[in-house]
Amino acid sequence: MAVRVVIAGGSFGGLTTTYELRRHLGPDQAAITVISKDRRFTFVPSLPWVAMGRRRLEQISFDLAEPLAAKHVGFVHETITGVDTERKLVATQRGEHPYDFLVIATGHRSANEAVEGLGPFDGPGHSPMSAPEAEELRSAVQSLLEAPGPVVVGAAPGASCIGPAYELAFELDHLLRRRKLRHQVPITFLTPEPFLGHMGMGGAGKIRQLLEGELEERDISYATSAAVRKITREAVEVAGASPVPSVLSIVIPPLAGVEAVANSAGLANPKGFLPVDAHYRHQMAGGVYGVGVAVAMAPVGDTPVPVNFPKTGHMTEQMAQIAARDIAARIAGHGEVTPAELSARCVLDMGDRGAYMSVNPVRPPRNTIPTVSEGRHWLLAKRVFERTYLWHARRGRRMPTTFGW
Ligand SMILES: Cc1cc2nc3c(=O)[nH]c(=O)nc-3n(C[C@H](O)[C@H](O)[C@H](O)COP(=O)(O)OP(=O)(O)OC[C@H]3O[C@@H](n4cnc5c(N)ncnc54)[C@H](O)[C@@H]3O)c2cc1C
Repeated sequence: MAVRVVIAGGSFGGLTTTYELRRHLGPDQAAITVISKDRRFTFVPSLPWVAMGRRRLEQISFDLAEPLAAKHVGFVHETITGVDTERKLVATQRGEHPYDFLVIATGHRSANEAVEGLGPFDGPGHSPMSAPEAEELRSAVQSLLEAPGPVVVGAAPGASCIGPAYELAFELDHLLRRRKLRHQVPITFLTPEPFLGHMGMGGAGKIRQLLEGELEERDISYATSAAVRKITREAVEVAGASPVPSVLSIVIPPLAGVEAVANSAGLANPKGFLPVDAHYRHQMAGGVYGVGVAVAMAPVGDTPVPVNFPKTGHMTEQMAQIAARDIAARIAGHGEVTPAELSARCVLDMGDRGAYMSVNPVRPPRNTIPTVSEGRHWLLAKRVFERTYLWHARRGRRMPTTFGW
């Protein structure tokens, strides 16, 4: 009888795990079921482009049902409400799904309760952390174009997803210049990082110098070790400093695990993230794996204002591959795979140019010097990568991660 594998989540972690598992195991060996609350896969790194009006959601997403059916994978479009690790059952609003192996790739919940005013739907702040939030930001940006005023872009204490904050500051600057409105919009970048480009991983080569130069060239003022403590409709309040006037405050929140995981007995740490080992196996619950943003990762060290370790799409895919290969090896009776340290490659959109950054491993100290490069061609590469990734993913194919993000 086929082993039952349930994949919780249909994004980068869930889909990569599914495709990789299917590469190793046929339907007679593994009955795979993906459970996702979202019917569509969304290319999340393009959400800032949705916010800036440069993409529509339909262009960066696709329905999961067809590619999964083509791979003989079951698809359940439901919200998971909990996991019973004793009985090996995943509960949804409508039923229970038994598993022999479970891979949890449910991503994050924005912990907006951490700072008063974080939003968008529960406060005046904005952040494109999900498709509806990116659409909300798009209309807020349109309102800014109609009634220009000061803007704050940044990240809250404890944030781990800081790259998009830089992208949003640069993209907004670029948009405003194109509309000849930039002179009416002072932009302030507020980050909990101890220095620009720390990104929760202790920096990467010359990225700090690059970002300092780029922000200064564009008249974007910035403050590091900034602890945002309140967002109102008129300003952003920062600990130990005067409030920064702002009619549009885009502040990336700290993240937590989703409620279904956080509330399941014996599954998550106090923040709702999964404790996993180097194979991405859950440290306590047998047969359970965790990949992507859902897993717990310790910060690289103490910083005056907390900054958490990043969990990028590229890293998520590496975790998913390790987990999938480990499950496949165990099902086939080949023991376990050798885990690998995570590396990261990403391209930061700076509006008219891109900055490429490659670190191996992500966590310092490193034997290799990080690569940092900047130019128009990187922006083109980011656009090509988005299209190529979506082309492959909607056909049930996995992009080689060596390609970079
Ligand atoms: C604005 C933004 C820009 C980014 N830019 C980049 C970039 O340029 N490069 C890069 O490498 N990374 C980038 N990232 C990070 C990258 O998007 C994440 O690392 C990646 O999305 C993580 O994938 P995941 O599968 O772990 O989780 P997610 O993408 O968050 O997906 C979670 C999945 O779980 C499902 N789910 C959640 N809860 C439940 C539930 N209760 N029941 C059922 N299903 C559930 C969701 O529907 C979804 O399918 C960016 C992130 C953001 C927010």
